[in-house]
Amino acid sequence: PAIPCPGEMFGSARRNSSGCDLTDPTILEPLLGRLSVLETKRWTAGQGTGPRTAVTSPFNHDLVVGEAIEATTADIDAMLRRAAAAQQGWDLAGGEARARLLDRTADLFEERREDFYSLCIREAGKALPDAILEVREAVDFLRYYAAEARRLFTGAHRLPGPTGETNELRLHGRGVWTCISPWNFPLAIFTGPVAAALAAGNTAIAKPAEQTPLIGALAIRLMHEAGIPEDVVHLAVGDGKVGAALTAHPLTAGVAFTGSTAVAKAINRTLAERDGPIVPLIAETGGQNAMIVDSSALPEQVTRDVVASAFQSAGQRCSALRVLFVQEDVADTMVTMIKGAMEALTIGDPRVPTTDVGPVIDADAKASLDAHVAEMRAAGQVAATLALPAGSEKGSFVAPVIAELPDLSALTDEHFGPILHVIRWKAGELGKVIDQVNATGYGLTLGLQSRIDTVHAEVQARARVGNLYVNRNQIGAVVESQPFGGEGLSGTGPKAGGPHYVARFATERVTCVDT
Ligand code: GLU
Repeated sequence: PAIPCPGEMFGSARRNSSGCDLTDPTILEPLLGRLSVLETKRWTAGQGTGPRTAVTSPFNHDLVVGEAIEATTADIDAMLRRAAAAQQGWDLAGGEARARLLDRTADLFEERREDFYSLCIREAGKALPDAILEVREAVDFLRYYAAEARRLFTGAHRLPGPTGETNELRLHGRGVWTCISPWNFPLAIFTGPVAAALAAGNTAIAKPAEQTPLIGALAIRLMHEAGIPEDVVHLAVGDGKVGAALTAHPLTAGVAFTGSTAVAKAINRTLAERDGPIVPLIAETGGQNAMIVDSSALPEQVTRDVVASAFQSAGQRCSALRVLFVQEDVADTMVTMIKGAMEALTIGDPRVPTTDVGPVIDADAKASLDAHVAEMRAAGQVAATLALPAGSEKGSFVAPVIAELPDLSALTDEHFGPILHVIRWKAGELGKVIDQVNATGYGLTLGLQSRIDTVHAEVQARARVGNLYVNRNQIGAVVESQPFGGEGLSGTGPKAGGPHYVARFATERVTCVDT
């Protein structure tokens, strides 16, 4: 192409299912023009009566994108009461009526996609290809869960009646779900659990991450515009205190949470100890994701897939690659090629379409990643890094890093950023590598690069992970095709975007009518 290609290193994002080919200047240039008009737009999140705070950009902390109005305890109580009162009517409206409104919401998300791109870039610091994929995924969740509402919530499921009786199973909403979402997918993972809760006949309170309330607020506004009643879905803006008040409230009938393992466990304790019914928690948490490369793997493919898995989205995906286990015999070649590809990445302002790696979410994230890199540097483990561009001190930027570690023992925490750890393994010791991966206790994604069928079979049979990707990158699970979610410390299941997800938000009722 005549113009530089956004996301050059990240093939999966360049041509994405939205049909937006960013290598085509006739598409890219008008899009950039429209985004520059949206640059000055200010947004507001929340209708609460609590304190107001400015929402700033991760790439420039002086740049104000909008204002967040925190929900107070009284606001939260009022929302939950209204949502609880609206739940039965929404449940009885049936799967088809709810599906139509979710599909209509998906249409509005598509119509307003440029507002979302602009917000994903400015509020969350996403590079343009990631912003496009984010909207695509949110739309996919809405349409898939609408289809699930039709499949699961239209009429009764007939069961056998061995003595002539009629047995029917029906799914119903449980009540009000509290959906607490993360900043790293401020639209897709904000929308998915809310859409699933609504599809299943629940009402919902959506709490966006405190770093990204504006994107969540626009999503809820469009749900209301699509015709979902205001009492059926509410936005609760604020920090962890708001999440804690929501989960502790006896009207919360279920919690869907994506975030850290520690917070998921704290929510579980709250739910166990509060008044009111015993309610479910669906938690999608962290990972210590590995990729295993053996000597039969194709070096160019490994290079491309490692760079995308570790550095796309500045490494801020639960699915991202953290630990590359590479077979000793090919390690020098692989590491040299990966370093070369990493050095070709452009780090900087996500508004610039040639940027590959944008900022990390905030100053706290940067401080914790910088501390980890400093420790590895002191131990002589840093093999390569990039220089930060001029002006980067205005935001929270962390340069991609490759570090070589002797083993996994030092990696007890998940380092949620563009840091790739490399560990070499000896031929014949694949079993030990799988044991090490399992011993982390996490079980989210695993990459495997090998041309040997028996290796595929061994890893697939023994690795305790939710999503195994063979001979490709390990990020960007596609709704319905690659249901996403882990086990162990990585979450409770069911998998987002999979056939068991929506049903988990419902309760089952059986009616038996005798003759
Ligand atoms: N579903 C995303 C992916 O496959 C990751 C979700 C997350 O980071 O929580 O890359």
